[in-house]
Amino acid sequence: TIGMLAIDAAGNISGACTTSGMAFKLRGRVGDSPIIGAGLYVDNEVGGATSTGVGEEVIRNVGSFLVVELMRQGYTPEDACREAVNRIVKKKADGAKDLQVGFLAINKKGEYGAYAIQKGFSYAVCNAEKQDLIIKGKSIY
Ligand code: ASP
Repeated sequence: TIGMLAIDAAGNISGACTTSGMAFKLRGRVGDSPIIGAGLYVDNEVGGATSTGVGEEVIRNVGSFLVVELMRQGYTPEDACREAVNRIVKKKADGAKDLQVGFLAINKKGEYGAYAIQKGFSYAVCNAEKQDLIIKGKSIY
């Protein structure tokens, strides 16, 4: 999945995501990306979130909506992403050792963060004023 979140000079937030789906998926499978609240959610009063990884887990936890609602309660984007990832991990008997799900989020202040279950999750940040690009990735494992 490629998920994108943006904030403009006036503080308006937007988001988009696209995916080819999971490898070897069943015909007709619908992943998280086309489901608002799962693979993508934006509330212009709070912020936006998007996800990547095993869509079934994101759908079950209404993941991107959860991230935005956590930010509404005062979580930073990174803490909201970590909590959403932890909700998925806690429900797995094996601690989700072979499962990858990651979230990316931005809030109204332009603060951003991300968190994934497995290593190897990275994202890019482009700031129009500074023209810089940062790649970061935090994960449980
Ligand atoms: N989230 C996608 C899906 O479940 C897979 C991906 O990350 O590309 O369809």
